[in-house]
Amino acid sequence: MPTFATSPGTRDILAPEAARWRAFQQLFADVVETAGYGHIIPPMFEDLGVFLRVGETTEIVTKEMYDFDDKGGRRIALRPEQTASICRAFVEHRPVTPWKVWYAGPNFRYEKPQQGRYRQFDQVGIEALGADDPQLDAEVIALAMEFYGRLGLRHVTLSVNSLGDSGDRDRYAAALRTHFTAHLDALSPESRATLERNPLRVLDSKRAEDAPLIAAAPKMADHLSEAAAAHFANVQSSLRAAGIEFVVNDRLVRGLDYYRRTTFEFVSTALAAAHTAIGGGGRYDGLVAELGGPETPGIGFALGLDRTLLACDAEGVFAAPASRVEVFVVDITGGDQATSVCAELRAAGIGADRAYEGRRMKAQMKAADRSGARLAVIIGDDELTANTAIIRTMEGGSQQSVQRDGLVAGVRQALGRSTP
Ligand code: AMP
Repeated sequence: MPTFATSPGTRDILAPEAARWRAFQQLFADVVETAGYGHIIPPMFEDLGVFLRVGETTEIVTKEMYDFDDKGGRRIALRPEQTASICRAFVEHRPVTPWKVWYAGPNFRYEKPQQGRYRQFDQVGIEALGADDPQLDAEVIALAMEFYGRLGLRHVTLSVNSLGDSGDRDRYAAALRTHFTAHLDALSPESRATLERNPLRVLDSKRAEDAPLIAAAPKMADHLSEAAAAHFANVQSSLRAAGIEFVVNDRLVRGLDYYRRTTFEFVSTALAAAHTAIGGGGRYDGLVAELGGPETPGIGFALGLDRTLLACDAEGVFAAPASRVEVFVVDITGGDQATSVCAELRAAGIGADRAYEGRRMKAQMKAADRSGARLAVIIGDDELTANTAIIRTMEGGSQQSVQRDGLVAGVRQALGRSTP
């Protein structure tokens, strides 16, 4: 028989890690819902055209898209990110602005799988459409920082930049093209190819041979319109007022073409791996119009769940939640007692598990150990006859005998829970 394993770049997330994912998403929801962001669940696949608007020089569009013809002959793509879907939803539903939403879920990119880089990876994020107030930029950034703080992360740095408006960006791209073309021989072959497609992305090159040319390249700051420069100055003063530390990195261009004005990135300095970017975002003031809607400003961020949890591992924070099984019922009389005791405990809101197949006492106690339960309830022939049960603490092993009809109350007391 053939056996199967997960496809490259995908993983099964097992317990207790899966519970950690859920706790991550729940914490994120708590942080952003408190700030007025409502949950949105866009579909995982859409018309390819939606994602083409992300930008035709963007790698996730040119090289990494999971697209296919469905049985109805539509050109469909699995979403590589969710901002484009949310802008499409904005155009479709025309909600009242400012429209503030959050999302969580998987995206798909045909990338080279490695530690911290997967073909199916999860993000949480927010988007705010319909306001171009720099204070909104600062709010969005502050919420990401708040979330990192609530996870317990201490080693996250924030870089910000402004890419200007589309005219600024085009003029800057032209200046970069002139600069790099004048020194083509000194550029790596990879960056020469990038230059053809998108001069801004050359600034992302990590190759040592490109470093001197990149250092000498024209600066975005010198190509900002007055309005874009004023917006950026306001964002920075709002961040300072909120006590948020940041550095301005005028080489920060980010991978997606739709960014305008403010862009930002969060890096975990606790991660030693190649992939230390744990989140990023920016303004995308032209995207709604590109998707056929009215001119609408927008800003948001996406945080990589997989990679942020690697950062949590590196900092030793945000561990998987403890087992929900509080009591393990050890029934050595056949199993009927375990059935009824588990039902009573569960109905009382107490996590309870048991063994099956009439295992011996020793095997059942081993299972109790593995379950993470704090207590074992033990019922043997003597207890069955006397209509009692033993409550035993797993750590320390102290035990007491209680009347069978007082068992739930006894367990509650042993767990330190008040009576309802
Ligand atoms: P982006 O949507 O490209 O701006 O990415 C935002 C964040 O998502 C990044 O900072 C990463 O943390 C995460 N991310 C992007 N691509 C991947 C991937 N292939 N695997 C894991 N995480 C990713």
